[in-house]
Amino acid sequence: MKKLVALLLTTVMAMTMLTACGAKEETAAPATEDATVSAALADGVLTVGTNAEFPPFEYMGDDGQPDGFDMALVKAIGEKLGVEVKIENMEFASLVTSIGSKIDIAAAGMTVTEERKQTVDFTDTYYEAVQYVILPVDSEIKAAADLEGKTIGVQLGTTGDFIASDIADTTVSQYNKAVDAVNDLINGRVDCVIIDKNPALVFEGKFEGQVVAVDGAQFEFEIENYAMALPKGDTVLAEQINQAIADLKADGTFDELVKTYIEAE
Ligand code: GLN
Repeated sequence: MKKLVALLLTTVMAMTMLTACGAKEETAAPATEDATVSAALADGVLTVGTNAEFPPFEYMGDDGQPDGFDMALVKAIGEKLGVEVKIENMEFASLVTSIGSKIDIAAAGMTVTEERKQTVDFTDTYYEAVQYVILPVDSEIKAAADLEGKTIGVQLGTTGDFIASDIADTTVSQYNKAVDAVNDLINGRVDCVIIDKNPALVFEGKFEGQVVAVDGAQFEFEIENYAMALPKGDTVLAEQINQAIADLKADGTFDELVKTYIEAE
């Protein structure tokens, strides 16, 4: 009998402890109990990393702050989500590894690639692009085979960099700022620059009469798609941003931004 009482007592104690633990766990749960809000936004701030060297998507505005299509888009997303948007300007090559620590997301005309997907998740894609080849006006480079053995300027860590490195016998000159690559093209230090379509067209306009921007389709380059990069596994944040982008498309804001920042160039 004593044994039975002891056993009963132990069982009751164990159950009480279990319940107590359960209750404790509940109070220790994260402040954001709303499963529709990402923990990344719990502080009311969306910290966005970019590299403001990629017009018209991001560049330094006259006020010394990053401006451009992506910047306007993330600010509009911030408004939809009711959070403040803080922009961190950094090297393009540092963006992916800074997500989840220095920055919440990256908005930088970033192409979705299988390699990047190993480290980060992406939002829905929001813009289609292709790499272009910027050439001196008198260049004889016309097709993919002509790029072999050439010195190619690229922006470090970009898809243009990856493409150039895959071409036979090339010397790839990597720059942190695309404009420096274009300046070296004009100075004759590189034979061409491989960079995304829209910045290529901006540089063609800026250095008119000195360089031309040629469609990468002529060099058999594939179509690329831009998306914002997010911490891996934060599906709640992905859903929130995707919903905001969808809303901005539905209410016409997205098209307005395309007209203002991209098509006006
Ligand atoms: N779209 C290219 C990439 O993702 C270039 C982006 C950039 O230079 N900002 O690599």
